[in-house]
Amino acid sequence: MGNRLIAAIQKSGRLSEKSLEMIKSCGIDFYADSRALKASASGFPLDFLFVRDDDIPGYVSDGVADIGIVGRNELDESGIELEIVRDLGFASCRLSIAAPPAFEYKGLESLEGKRIATSYPRILQSILNEKGVKATPVVVSGSVEITVDAGIADAIADLVSTGTTLKMNGLEEKECIYRSSAVLVSRKDLEEEKKIALRSLLERLDAVMLARHKKYILFNLPKDRLEKAAEVIGGMKSPTVTPLMDEGWISVQSAVDEGRFWSVFKELKALGAEGILVMNIEKMTE
Ligand code: ATP
Ligand code: ZN
Repeated sequence: MGNRLIAAIQKSGRLSEKSLEMIKSCGIDFYADSRALKASASGFPLDFLFVRDDDIPGYVSDGVADIGIVGRNELDESGIELEIVRDLGFASCRLSIAAPPAFEYKGLESLEGKRIATSYPRILQSILNEKGVKATPVVVSGSVEITVDAGIADAIADLVSTGTTLKMNGLEEKECIYRSSAVLVSRKDLEEEKKIALRSLLERLDAVMLARHKKYILFNLPKDRLEKAAEVIGGMKSPTVTPLMDEGWISVQSAVDEGRFWSVFKELKALGAEGILVMNIEKMTE
């Protein structure tokens, strides 16, 4: 057992299924009962611990586990330093400032002196510090969206993937201040044999990730939204931009990871993109 890699995986939540899928797609076989707290792979030196995502960074740094799959947000919030070995690209979400529509938001400065509810005080504080903004954090562990209505906060900083939950609670997404997706983390001091197992896992993972489909998208966009759109598309190189007859508009094209496609699509539409055209890519070099 001593040389088997132990992976901490979220027991039940937004990361669970995709984490296991990712490992299965590497050709690693295992049986995980949904109630079990442990499992073992057959034919590959990998064991699993199923835990709450909040505990993953700690377990990995304490050596209870060797590697883990966790949201970058959870890792940054923990303040624990681990090796990020791969960005897995799924479970992507953003930490956004949201407030009632009547809240006049002109940027982080508008939060000066305000009460901001969040489950990510460390990440929020570091971003406010960067801008020299002083606000009062209101730390809650869930249902952040109700705090404004409940009268204990003026605005919130919460994880968003589509934005529907915010809208349902009468809040408007004002600004994205941080982006996250699932990352594969590892202890810094892995024993030699475990390092070999991890290397072999990564070889398989890289092959899978490279083979993943990408889509090519083309759309028209108000010129002044280009910077935001480039942020949304992310990854790869900078997008190709062509002028249009109408001076206020441009045409943008870029490859996008299929796994992130629908969230990118939604965000681009929210930015005012029109005539979004999606194409399959037949062949591609990095
Ligand atoms: P646990 O019971 O394991 O503590 P949890 O409720 O804290 O679970 P989930 O809601 O399953 O966590 O979310 C896990 C991760 O999924 C988040 O930390 C984040 O990285 C990612 N995520 C993706 N989209 C969203 C979203 N819309 N809201 C919250 N988290 C999201
Ligand atoms: Zn959690």
